[in-house]
Amino acid sequence: MFGCVLIFVDEYTTGTQNWECPFCTLYNDDTNSFCDACEAWKCSMCTYVNNTRKKKCEMCYSDKPQLDVHQNELRESDA
Ligand SMILES: [Zn+2]
Ligand SMILES: [Zn+2]
Repeated sequence: MFGCVLIFVDEYTTGTQNWECPFCTLYNDDTNSFCDACEAWKCSMCTYVNNTRKKKCEMCYSDKPQLDVHQNELRESDA
């Protein structure tokens, strides 16, 4: 069953699409998967915002993304 509907409207918002955290009402940048204030996380599959304690998305059961915002540059990837 397909419960998730992806609708991206690019007509009036091109580039950044901020998302509002439903738990603390903070607006976060679209590139940020985690709320800066309460660490709620936005599902990358259906964009549903889950409580930080959830390990899977409530809507589509996708896994919680890794909190690796600052680790991308530090990671030593094999060439
Ligand atoms: Zn929040
Ligand atoms: Zn989801």
